[in-house]
Amino acid sequence: MTIVDTPERRQLRELTRSFVTREVLPHLDDWERAGEVPRELHATAAKIGLLGIGFPESVGGSGGDLLDSIVVTEEIIRSGGSSGLIAALFTHGIALPHMVAAAGAHTGGSLGAPRGGAPAGNHLVDRYVRPTLAGSMIGALAITEPDGGSDVAAIRTTALRDGDHYVVNGSKTYITSGIRADFVTTAVCTDLPGSGSLSLLVIDKDTPGFTVGRRLEKLGWHCSDTAELSFVDVRVPVANRIGEEDTGFLAIMQNFAAERLSLATQAYATAQRCVELATRWCRDRSTFGRPLASRQLVRHRLAELHTRAEAARAYVHDVATRVAAGEPVVTEVAMAKNVAVAACDHVVDAALQLHGGFGYLRDAEVERHYRDARILGIGGGTTEIMNEIIAKGMGL
Ligand SMILES: Cc1cc2nc3c(=O)[nH]c(=O)nc-3n(C[C@H](O)[C@H](O)[C@H](O)COP(=O)(O)OP(=O)(O)OC[C@H]3O[C@@H](n4cnc5c(N)ncnc54)[C@H](O)[C@@H]3O)c2cc1C
Repeated sequence: MTIVDTPERRQLRELTRSFVTREVLPHLDDWERAGEVPRELHATAAKIGLLGIGFPESVGGSGGDLLDSIVVTEEIIRSGGSSGLIAALFTHGIALPHMVAAAGAHTGGSLGAPRGGAPAGNHLVDRYVRPTLAGSMIGALAITEPDGGSDVAAIRTTALRDGDHYVVNGSKTYITSGIRADFVTTAVCTDLPGSGSLSLLVIDKDTPGFTVGRRLEKLGWHCSDTAELSFVDVRVPVANRIGEEDTGFLAIMQNFAAERLSLATQAYATAQRCVELATRWCRDRSTFGRPLASRQLVRHRLAELHTRAEAARAYVHDVATRVAAGEPVVTEVAMAKNVAVAACDHVVDAALQLHGGFGYLRDAEVERHYRDARILGIGGGTTEIMNEIIAKGMGL
């Protein structure tokens, strides 16, 4: 099943397209060089309701569901934006859903059923969710540690209870928006390190003992800042715990699914955009006296790339539609991510090749997509970890 293009979704596409054209494209190269997007961009996106898509109005969002979030993601890349821009501007898509669910509200992008009994759930909504969706705060999600990211249960950052506080010690790495974030939704171990007893704490950037390390330099996603974080005896109020103690692993897994579908969307949308760029290039570029697009070899290559991108889009739409309908399709989400990433990897490489030398230059949009695409099979669970989930789903 494909995502139905309702009149509202067509409006959403139009809104997204005009936002990218007016507010992003004139500046994207500068942000890529600066290594981050400006805070004002969050406020601008919030003002037109784009930042809050997929979050309920009751927590300051704009409403809409997972499918609407996918429409926005698709349209950003289709309009010439990038997955790096999405990572930077929409980090709240991974930093906030656990708080919203714990407070008893559904997020369109989150798959978790709301859990009651959260300590001061609305306090977290008022303090972090609303200002972030209004564009005045930036949040990040910190799960990965220097010792490893795939094995989430092995997290070693500890949060030991001391009265009405937790004392947090440990470190995180590769954290998207970690340089700019005002708060970090942090996975901690509330028992012995590596015990698998995970909880989520929201930690304010200015808490004593919390330091943001160096800005990590990367192959792609240049406009998205990435940081190492360190916690030394950081005192975090118990009221900043999301949900009950030991519910962190489940909450992380439930929200991973929405993140994986977003990354899958970024992958097929990047592939589609690269097919479009390569097609335009092959029409305009002549070699040996004829446009490239007039040669059967080139036309068939473009046809094959288009087919791969479209097949990935159709499958991701199908899985996303089932998720939005509440079906438990964990295996299919993993397959959707791998299908879309494989299509994307293949297409960005071929599209760059069709551009010849120009494809290798920073001036070429396809060059940015080629670099940005590489993370999609790593972030949110690697291709190998997705295969592990798929194998388990097959009963292996
Ligand atoms: C640009 C960027 C942004 C990121 N943003 C965030 C963020 O915002 N928040 C956050 O928490 N993390 C973030 N990450 C981290 C990302 O989620 C991890 O890098 C990813 O989960 C893999 O973990 P790892 O790097 O520790 O690799 P490892 O877990 O060390 O794995 C190394 C390799 O071994 C493979 N492997 C691991 N276990 C198995 C197995 N059982 N069987 C077969 N193969 C296996 C992996 O697939 C991989 O190829 C980001 C990473 C990058 C690069």
